[in-house]
Amino acid sequence: MNVNNVNLEVVSGNTSQFPDTGLLEIAFAGKSNVGKSSLINALINRKSYARTSSQPGKTQTINFYNIEDKLYFVDLPGYGYAKVSKTERERWGKFIESYLYERQQLKQILLLVDIRHEPGNNDKMLYDWIVYNGFDPIVVATKLDKIKRSQIDKHVSIIRKSLGITDRKKIVPFSATTKQGKDTLWEIIDDIIEN
Ligand code: GDP
Repeated sequence: MNVNNVNLEVVSGNTSQFPDTGLLEIAFAGKSNVGKSSLINALINRKSYARTSSQPGKTQTINFYNIEDKLYFVDLPGYGYAKVSKTERERWGKFIESYLYERQQLKQILLLVDIRHEPGNNDKMLYDWIVYNGFDPIVVATKLDKIKRSQIDKHVSIIRKSLGITDRKKIVPFSATTKQGKDTLWEIIDDIIEN
């Protein structure tokens, strides 16, 4: 899709504030700092529309990016900040879970992991939970430019094995710096919109 118009609607902590337009949704999940804002910015051709490097402890929100009135990109709060209190983490865990669990118009979940590292326990738990709930997630392996080309297959394979992904097409290496992987992701998204 050629994206010109994007409109951000921010929702903080209350499911009743979710948009009720009925547009389909694609959610982006992943550990803080994995490159979620950078991926969203790349997909919508903006430099800094989605905030990058969100601060720990800042009020977390679920951000709905209305893309051309065709769909929403849903930016879920990043997990894994040690500094956030346990109560706060649990509250947000439940909020994200209720979003993922209840949202009828949610069609696909992109789970982001850093291509350089084996997925952590939180990544694995979320991946399993997503699959258990009937989704067929796409794993985006971010920061592709940070590893040598000759190392890509090895890293992708580590991530695949660690999460238990059998279909190679379900993992897309991506770089916000070089934009590698962007066209593949848009093909996947366009397919969802058309079906
Ligand atoms: P978020 O917390 O998941 O939204 O992560 P951000 O998008 O804010 O990215 C965290 C940091 O990683 C920032 O300093 C980004 O510039 C950097 N970053 C994100 N994606 C890439 C990438 O593809 N390549 C490189 N080299 N750096 C990236």
